[in-house]
Amino acid sequence: MDQIRIGKFIAETRKARKLTQRQLADALSVSDKTISKWECGKGLPEVSLMLPLCDELDITVNDLLSGEKVSDSDYQKKAEGNMMNLMKENEENKKRMALSIICGVITIIAVCALVVIASYIKLPTVARIALILFAAATGVTGIAAAAMLEIKAGYYECPHCKELFVPTMREYVKGYHTFLKRRLTCPKCGKSGMCRHRIVRY
Ligand SMILES: [Zn+2]
Repeated sequence: MDQIRIGKFIAETRKARKLTQRQLADALSVSDKTISKWECGKGLPEVSLMLPLCDELDITVNDLLSGEKVSDSDYQKKAEGNMMNLMKENEENKKRMALSIICGVITIIAVCALVVIASYIKLPTVARIALILFAAATGVTGIAAAAMLEIKAGYYECPHCKELFVPTMREYVKGYHTFLKRRLTCPKCGKSGMCRHRIVRY
């Protein structure tokens, strides 16, 4: 998906229809900041907004995702390409999520094994301490790797305005979390809340 191209196309089409960002935003019940974000290529409309947006702009979803008016002869080909791109994005996110879980599980097993060895097997004290330090280092590295993978897998959903966003590493690390939710600040409405992790856009 070429977000910059799609953004320019949204802006051009909106202006051609003599709509302001505010008017388009009101028609879609989103903020004008959201429209501006799309037009700057800083994010795609989420799937539930694509049809209403296309209705307002009098274009097809295929035009929108292609970033241009698609001619009848190209229509089928472009539609398939656009569909594949959306599916690919979701697939990559699912793979990252699975990798993140595998990484976390391996880390936990490795750390437990090292701790058991260090505790129950007769070893010189120095070797025991080295083993425990090694276990700690393995744990930190493994959890960091799992977090890096998870942060890239999908989006977090703001409970207040339903905005989907990817948190910064810093926000991510300091956020209190449960298995599926994490306390984050929404970049759109500025409110903090328990944001649900979503692997796919829809
Ligand atoms: Zn929000």
